[in-house]
Amino acid sequence: MALAAARSKRNHPVAPTHATYPDAKGRPHPAARPPHIAGGLRVDEADVVVVGAGIVGLATARDLAVGRGLGVTVVETESEVARHQTGHNSGVIHSGLYYKPGSAKARNCADGRELLYRYCADRGIPHERCGKVVVATSTDELPALDELERRGRANGLVGMERLDAAGLREHEPNVRGVAGLFVRETGIVDYTAVARAYAEDVTAAGGRVRLGAKFVGCRWEPERLVLETTAGPIRCRMLVNCGGLYSDRVARLCGVDPGVQIVPFRGEYYELKPAAEHLCKHLIYPVPDPRLPFLGVHFTRMIGGGVECGPNAVLAFSRVGYRRTDVRAGDLMEFARSPGFWRMASRFWRVGIGEMYRSASKRAFWRALRRLIPDVRYGDLVPGGAGVRAQALDRNGKLVDDFAIRQVPRMVHVLNAPSPAATASLSIGRTVADLAREGLGLKPKKDEW
Ligand SMILES: Cc1cc2nc3c(=O)[nH]c(=O)nc-3n(C[C@H](O)[C@H](O)[C@H](O)COP(=O)(O)OP(=O)(O)OC[C@H]3O[C@@H](n4cnc5c(N)ncnc54)[C@H](O)[C@@H]3O)c2cc1C
Repeated sequence: MALAAARSKRNHPVAPTHATYPDAKGRPHPAARPPHIAGGLRVDEADVVVVGAGIVGLATARDLAVGRGLGVTVVETESEVARHQTGHNSGVIHSGLYYKPGSAKARNCADGRELLYRYCADRGIPHERCGKVVVATSTDELPALDELERRGRANGLVGMERLDAAGLREHEPNVRGVAGLFVRETGIVDYTAVARAYAEDVTAAGGRVRLGAKFVGCRWEPERLVLETTAGPIRCRMLVNCGGLYSDRVARLCGVDPGVQIVPFRGEYYELKPAAEHLCKHLIYPVPDPRLPFLGVHFTRMIGGGVECGPNAVLAFSRVGYRRTDVRAGDLMEFARSPGFWRMASRFWRVGIGEMYRSASKRAFWRALRRLIPDVRYGDLVPGGAGVRAQALDRNGKLVDDFAIRQVPRMVHVLNAPSPAATASLSIGRTVADLAREGLGLKPKKDEW
């Protein structure tokens, strides 16, 4: 366990992003709007306020601030950027293999992936286009593998190769399977580093990233919104909600019915001990269960070194439920009151119990991993970190599969941005920013990213 704690990026506190403050003393950038003083109360001004300094909020703020000079302020509850999903994910640059052709996920993943590779290269952010294998471990999985291959081709993946058992071993000598796919476009990166770079772009363009500023309410004035935050009010013309695990609550605080409820699913990881890391060269994935929006436990070589195994997908009893013992009564009450939640539970209770068992039992987790690499030993696994996914659930109990964005007067709400939203962030950021620009009567942006 000590080994995992020493090596896992999840267990390292994320360094404060001083670069995201306007300057070391917290003074605003010279290009930022001066504060307005109303009845002795300081009210900051901005064209657009983005709620949430995860990768989607920062990519949106970056798109709004760079080039066109809109005054943008990002407000973030936490004292650092990327503290939730963005800083607790697998670090995979997804290819776009899985998504329904024509869906927002498929389009944004394909565009966003290439933009992200280019951005990382330009900004000197370590990344690697290493490719991955998807492994069918039995002939039962071949129809689902065929469907993945069809989707991959429909989504424009040109570097995809169908593999037989021997072909699989050429790419990953320790994998056992009957067939597979090699997908060249997949890669790895540290999304916290990407989010910090976006935040730097925002401040360099005159925007502000206000950490420790939780959005708590909103008042409508004839021409403006006044947003209440724990760091004081901000008057703006447009609000963009990128609140991730809290995006439905942020919408409700704005008087908007989100139409969905965010259900938190914890993803837990193990790591391979250094002596076992040779078992995985790059990324090794199973054929996913097509009924679920999760990919199944897999092996991921990380950009900073080491190999992660996971994540599973367990219902969390708190929106920030990083540990099994984290329970928040308010979050549980929300489940209990939601008819959609009970409909989902009645459909997936069997899968849910299986995932909870695998969460509680290292042996069950190990068995799932051994289906891909039989030589991995129980003792090779040490506990890693965990992340919590924000998954939207509709009123009929359906897990919303695609990205979901809602535009209302003076507001844009991002209500479902699960994986591959980190991969797709530059593309989603452009889409959300264009909706905000439209709301302000401005034209969509055509500039380079
Ligand atoms: C376990 C796991 C593995 C994943 N693996 C991958 C992967 O390999 N590749 C990939 O592309 N994607 C992956 N994803 C998905 C990806 O991480 C998310 O899609 C992405 O990070 C979503 O970004 P976000 O900005 O919407 O949310 P977040 O990163 O969660 O940011 C939302 C922010 O809003 C803030 N906030 C909330 N409420 C308020 C408020 N009232 N006031 C102010 N701030 C507020 C929060 O503090 C938070 O910082 C994974 C996710 C998880 C959980």
